[in-house]
This record gives sequence, C-alpha cells and structure tokens, in this order.
Amino acid sequence: MPLIKNGQSLDRIPLTQLQGVGPALEKKLNVIGIFNVQDLLFHLPLRYEDRTRIASIASIHTGDTVQLQGEITSCDIQFGRRRSLKCTLRDNSGFISLRFFHFSNSQKNSLAPGTQILCYGEVKRGRSGYEIFHPEYKLLSELENMDELPVADSLTPVYPTTEGLQQTRLRNIAAQALAFLDDGNNVIQDYLPKELISQFGLYGLTDAIKLIHRPPIDAPLSWLTEGANPGQTRLAFEELLAHRLSMRRFKNDSNQQSAPRLGAASKLTAKFLQQLPFTLTNGQQTAYQEIADDLSKACPMLRLLQGDVGSGKTVVAALAALHALDENFQVALMAPTELLAEQHLSNFKQWLTPLGIQVGWLSGKIKGKQRKEQLENMANGSSQLTIGTHALFQDEVEYQRLGLIIIDEQHRFGVHQRLALREKAGSKQLNPHQLVMTATPIPRTLAMSAYADLDNSIIDELPPGRIPVNTVIISSERRPQVIERIEKACAGNNQAYWVCTLIEESEVLQCQAAEVTAEQLSLLLPNISVGLIHGRMKSKEKIEVMQSFKDGHLQLLVATTVIEVGVDVPNASLMVIENPERLGLAQLHQLRGRVGRGSISSHCILLYQTPLSKAGKQRLSVMRQSNDGFFIAEKDLELRGPGQVLGTQQTGLMSFRVADISRNSNLLDQVRDASEIVMANHPEIVDPLIHRWLGDRVNYANV
Ligand code: ADP
Ligand code: MG
Repeated sequence: MPLIKNGQSLDRIPLTQLQGVGPALEKKLNVIGIFNVQDLLFHLPLRYEDRTRIASIASIHTGDTVQLQGEITSCDIQFGRRRSLKCTLRDNSGFISLRFFHFSNSQKNSLAPGTQILCYGEVKRGRSGYEIFHPEYKLLSELENMDELPVADSLTPVYPTTEGLQQTRLRNIAAQALAFLDDGNNVIQDYLPKELISQFGLYGLTDAIKLIHRPPIDAPLSWLTEGANPGQTRLAFEELLAHRLSMRRFKNDSNQQSAPRLGAASKLTAKFLQQLPFTLTNGQQTAYQEIADDLSKACPMLRLLQGDVGSGKTVVAALAALHALDENFQVALMAPTELLAEQHLSNFKQWLTPLGIQVGWLSGKIKGKQRKEQLENMANGSSQLTIGTHALFQDEVEYQRLGLIIIDEQHRFGVHQRLALREKAGSKQLNPHQLVMTATPIPRTLAMSAYADLDNSIIDELPPGRIPVNTVIISSERRPQVIERIEKACAGNNQAYWVCTLIEESEVLQCQAAEVTAEQLSLLLPNISVGLIHGRMKSKEKIEVMQSFKDGHLQLLVATTVIEVGVDVPNASLMVIENPERLGLAQLHQLRGRVGRGSISSHCILLYQTPLSKAGKQRLSVMRQSNDGFFIAEKDLELRGPGQVLGTQQTGLMSFRVADISRNSNLLDQVRDASEIVMANHPEIVDPLIHRWLGDRVNYANV
C-alpha cells in the first residue's frame, strides 16, 4: 500500500488507497455517495451497537441486542417447517438457543458441543425460551490471545449501506478513514473560524467526527437515539450554514443584477381599487407597501407573500402586477394546477379587462394554432399579463419585456426549481422581479431554511366579517346522518362540497371514487342537483362545472382534492371531507378554506374511516382546535416532517445529509447569525463550505 503523506487533505485521497478497497468495492461505495476518504467520515452511522460488554444470559430480555460468551452444549439440525441449525449456548447464568436457517456443514462441525464462542445478536422470544437468529459469532479458539476478548472500547457504529456491501466491511473501511484523523495531523479541514466555534459553543470538526463514529461507552442515551450528540450538532450546524450561505449568495448575486424600476402606477391602481367591492385590510396594505418599495428599486425583488387561506393574497398580487403593466412591462402568473390557474384567469380578467389590459392564457393543454398565437402575443408583448401553469416557462416561450413573475406556489415548487426559473426568465440586461405566494403559511423554521433567499411579507389578518369555520370529526359509520345534514343545508339555499381524498396516491382511482360517490349521493338526494369535478376531466368541462356551481345551478359539488386551492364560491358553507386521515393538516386547512368565505357561518365535517389510531385522532383534533393556518402549519411540521410539509420529499430538494429541520430547529437562529458573520468577515470560506455540503446541487440552481 502506498504511503499517505501526513497533512494531506482527506478529500484528495482516493478510496483505493485504503486496505482492501479495489475498483469493485469503490464502485459500491460510490453508490452511497462516497468518493474519497473524507466522504467516509461524513457518512454517519444510523445507530450504534453496544459491544463494549458481555451480558449474562440470565439478565437479557426480548428485544435486547446483546453480546454473549459461552460454551455450545448442543448443535442439531432440526426439520420443522424450515430446516435449521439449532445450537444451545450456556454461560454460568443460563441457556439460550442460537438458530441458523442458512448454514454449511463445516459451520455445523465448527459449532460442536464444547466449543467456546463469543456471539452478538437480537434476542427473540421463541417457543422454547430465548433465541437469537443468525447471530454474528467468533470462536474463542480462533482468537490469538484468550486474555484479550475482542470487546470494543466504544460503541459500534452501524452505517447506512447498499446491496453487496457488508456492514462489517464498511465498518472496517470507515475505521481506516478514522485512523487518518488519529495520527495527529490535521488532515480534514475545519473551515469554521475559531471565533465562530467558540461563539456558538461548537466542537471542532475532527473532534465532532470522532465523537460521531466512536461515541464513548458512557455516552448519554439521547446522543445515540435523538441525534443530540454534540458532534452531530456541529455537523448539522455546518450543513445548515452551507445551505443558508448558498441561498444568501444567490440573493447577493441577484442584488447585483438589474431590474426595471417600477413606479406607483397611480392611475391604474386608483381605478382598480375603485372597482373592488371592498377596501384592503391593514395586513394587505402593509404587504403591498413592502412589495411596492421593492419594485421601485433597480434590483430584482425576491419576495415571499404569506397569508392564511382567504386572507386575500390575490388582490395584493394584482396590485403588484399593475406596477409592471403601467410601465409597459409584461407579467407572468404561474399556478401549480390548471384549475387554480383558471380561477386566477377569471379573477384577473374581471379586474383588469376594464382597465384595458390584455390577459393571455397558456397551459400545456393549449395546442395548435391557439398556442402559436398565444406564444406570438407573448413574444411581441401584446399579451400583457399571461396566466398559466409550468407551460409559462418552457423553452419555446419568449417574453418581449417581462417585468414581474408571480408564482402561486402552494409549496409545490422546490427551492432549486424556483431559482432555476428566475434565471431562465431573465435576460442579460434586465431581470424580472419575483413574487412568490404560498397557499398556506409556512412554519417559521422552514421559511428560515427553505426560503432564506426571499424577503418575507405576511398578511396577518383576514378580511372583516369572516366567521371561523366550525369543524367536527365524525366516524364514517354516521355517514347517513351527514347526508341528511347536506339535504337540510341545500334545502336552506346553501351549497356544499363533498371531497373525496386520495386513494393509494392514484389519480385514476381517486377520480373513480369521486364518480361513484357522486352517483350514490344523487340517488340518496333526489331533490338536490349534484355536480362532479375531478382532475381527469377536460379543462373545459371543469370550468363549466365550476361556473354552474358558482351560479348556484349545482347545490352539491363532489370533488377530488383538485379544489384544494383557489376555488372561491362564497355561498358554499358546508364541506364534507372523506378520509381526512389520509391528508396532511396543511392540506386539510387549505381544503377547509373553500368554505367560510361568505357572511354565513360554515361547517366542515371530517368523516374519518374507522378504526382510526389514537395518533390519527389527535392529529385531526388539531383541525377542530384551530382555524389559524400558522398554528396548523407548525403542528403539521411537528407531526410529518419538512419533506411532507413542503411537498418536496419525492424530489429530495429539501433533503439534508445530517441536519433535521425539526430536531435542529433551535440552531436556525444561530445559523442565520453565523451566516452574516461569515459573509462579512470570512468570505473565503463560503465557496468551500457550499462545495462540501451541496456539491453539484448548486449548479442545478443555476441552469
Ligand atoms: P387567498 O389569500 O387564500 O388567495 P383570495 O385572494 O382568494 O385569498 O381571497 C379570498 C376572498 O376574499 C376572495 O373572495 C376575495 O375577493 C376576498 N377578499 C380579498 N380581500 C378582501 C378584503 N380586503 N375585504 C373583503 N374581502 C376580501
Ligand atoms: Mg390564493
């Protein structure tokens, strides 16, 4: 093996320099993201095993993972449902069975009665007392020195691994990587300056890594099970810092770019406000003012507009649009679903057409001549405001003078997607301003991490006169009573929704379920006109159904979660949500926001499927307790984790290697402060930190 020079940086040392690592094993390590010796050190254990002591058989319990030492007293092949090798192990306190379903003859012979072994495994309760299936074991006769039992002096790490890469092998390789740290040379570079390390009470990088891979025997349990190991905290801190720095850097770059200065649009704005049937709330006014200030600057606005369901974000977005339109710049408004985009289309047409603004429409479903025309209108600037879905930013799309992008994002666009979009729409000379609206409030911790590149405006009140929706939780056994209730409500001239939720994540099945439910309900409610809307209907049909519900021709609308956002029918005052236990709280809150929009008091019935677990009931009761989207969002995060709440778990956009937003939320304020210090006093470590933790993912942001 070639000698490795001391002081060499570990990320430069190839894996093949480790003993026993050839090209084949190197490939397997690559699969789990390990490309050099340093990567091995950042490949953290999932959990730990305690091989620091030998347990006595008398002291063990079912479920314990234990190390035992003793003598084999019997070893026989048993022919039951499955052939197995069963050995009995005795120590001076008792007996236990060891069972192997896969075994060779030589293995059987080596475990002959009288043999002394050391073994390790999980204790199960078998028919004839305690058993361990497939324990790891060593024959004591194979050990060179009987006085030195191979008992570990620290806890044994268990690493995430991949097919064909054995835990023991990986452990051995990781141990070699650790040995480099132990030789006393500082070969893994700690980018964090001493000043930060002491200010935030962190471990040095080398110590942190040792502590994670080799926690001492007496480490507190919380270190091992709750990620409270200070070594882990140090790495989580560094990782969160790297993420934040990457977003801040993006923002700084963005501040260097030019954007059109957009003035107050006084005339258009006055007309627009005049035709509204209401006046803005203070919350709307404040948010609008913050946006207007940004728009008047010569660098691109990057702002997040938050507000609870029904707080009136759309009007604020329209006001922002007027600034661009007034200066002859174009505006693009993108929504995550076709239905929501259509709702925006009808609102904005109603508001802006009287002001002489041309409102265009582009979705994936617009084809042929119509599409060609719309694309031309965008390219020549005659489509002043264009509303649509993702289609608005496909390659073939060109804008003549895009001044503002509005994204109604409902958490469906990941951070990097959003950043990419921003780049795509920009030109060399001028970059558009960007306003992101979220459909439901984002918990503060998530806003601080996933949206650190955006300034934040919050509409903190609902329009006056809204009556909180009364929510009840009812078992599906009482479905007939719920149907009666709908009958009463509709007889009294109110309208209702019946929402069928996701089945097995399949849209087809979900739509089928809605179809069946609609049929059933029309049979059971002959005097009520029942409509149906789901994601697989043609857009034209969907618009027609929504319109006749709006016009009051339909009294009950059976729907899938397509109506989750944006749908606005103030006369609807009752909503039944079937199988609410399948949805996240933020999503339920969003759905429930479709009622309670008028001046009558509204009700939401969560019709759950029995049996429902205690935790499930507890979760639903949050909906009964609160109508506050910010509170519900925090609870949702607590209960389901950040990936689910942001809707990015499939794409992995918000995934961290070490950090966990819920567990490490207490670090976020410090990380924010640290990022400011780093940018001001240590700009040279920004790039290396980002490279270490985000690697190529940053480039993705800049496509
Ligand atoms: P969201 O913030 O959920 O997107 P919307 O923008 O759809 O909310 O607004 C919800 C409803 O409230 C709409 O019918 C809208 O016309 C109405 N609205 C908005 N602002 C006000 C206000 N200041 N006073 C009364 N109603 C308002
Ligand atoms: Mg909205």
